[in-house]
Amino acid sequence: MLHIGHGYDVHAFAEGRRLVLGGVDIPYARGLDGHSDADVLAHALMDALLGAMRAEDIGQLFPDTDPAYEGADSCLLLGRVARLARERGYRILDVDCTVAAQAPKLAPHRQAMRENLASAMGVDVAAVGVKATTTERLGFVGREEGIAAWAVALLEEVR
Ligand code: MG
Repeated sequence: MLHIGHGYDVHAFAEGRRLVLGGVDIPYARGLDGHSDADVLAHALMDALLGAMRAEDIGQLFPDTDPAYEGADSCLLLGRVARLARERGYRILDVDCTVAAQAPKLAPHRQAMRENLASAMGVDVAAVGVKATTTERLGFVGREEGIAAWAVALLEEVR
């Protein structure tokens, strides 16, 4: 049986933070605020996987009140979610993600993001899509207040 999941996340820009997207450290004047490394793309993808599993969401799984996740590498957490999926009898078939950022330009980093996310989940890079868009200067993304990400995941229930 096939299941689809959808995930969405937003993080606000903050001074003095790294900008980590899809596990890639992107050189930029500001980073994203958050308890973990604030990798908004990995977070949306984790929620998509968990959605397809009809499981907990990442807030329940990795509470931001838990000091264990302070500054956490979200790709490691993504790996844990992928392992959980396998343990519960799911195979990750395909995922696709969109990141909305007015700045910086993300296109040069797309391939590295795909490779990091695929490697974290233990799937082929061909099974991972990452796209980037601006929002034509509209809304909170367009005003460069933060970055938003969406992800969908297709999982097969194998038992
Ligand atoms: Mg998040």
